[in-house]
This record gives sequence, C-alpha cells and structure tokens, in this order.
Amino acid sequence: MHQTGTMVVIQGPRFSTRAESTAYATSGCTVINMTGAPEAALARELELCYANISLVTDYDVGVSGGSDGPVSHVEVRQVLASNQENLRKLLLTLVSTMPDSRTCECGTALASARFLNS
Ligand SMILES: [Zn+2]
Repeated sequence: MHQTGTMVVIQGPRFSTRAESTAYATSGCTVINMTGAPEAALARELELCYANISLVTDYDVGVSGGSDGPVSHVEVRQVLASNQENLRKLLLTLVSTMPDSRTCECGTALASARFLNS
C-alpha cells in the first residue's frame, strides 16, 4: 500500500505504448489510471473529501520492475480478481473508522483558493 503517488489519467481502456510508459515514468508518474479524472477536481470544487483507491494490476510495459513483455487482459483480470478481498476489507475498515465530523481542510478548500481573475 502506498499513501501517495502521482497518477496520470489516460483515455481508455487500453494499454500504453512503450514510448508512453517511458514518458509517464520520466515525468514522475507512479500510476496510470483511466478513471481518476475529472472526479478528483470535481470533488475539490464541491469541497468533498476524496481519495483514490487504485488496484494496481501490473507494471507498465518497459518500466523497471516489470516484465519485459506486455501484460495481457487475462493477467489484468486475474490480478483484479485476487485483489477483491483486499478491497472489501479496506472499504469495510475505512467506513467503520470514519470520524463523525471532518477535521481536514476539504470542506473549506475553496475559501483559500486563489483564482487568477479575482
Ligand atoms: Zn477531507
């Protein structure tokens, strides 16, 4: 489990090319996702707390730590299936440990936002 990272959101579903994977990794991106935007920005605009839970299925092709060959759809589905129980446990834990009231700054995020035209 990683608490932070930099996610790049691409249109999909599809697998990245080797050149794209290299570009993302070189840019400091740690996770490639196809559904993280615009949800995060919209949540901020509504001053909602937001967290992304990414079930990482594979190292991108050509990225250090991964295999040399491309991942297959079957392999992705197998990893996703094997993570379902972990996801269920995580969600149950999160819901059961949520505080009754927020202590974060999400609820007042727009009050401190600086807009270029104001
Ligand atoms: Zn929050």
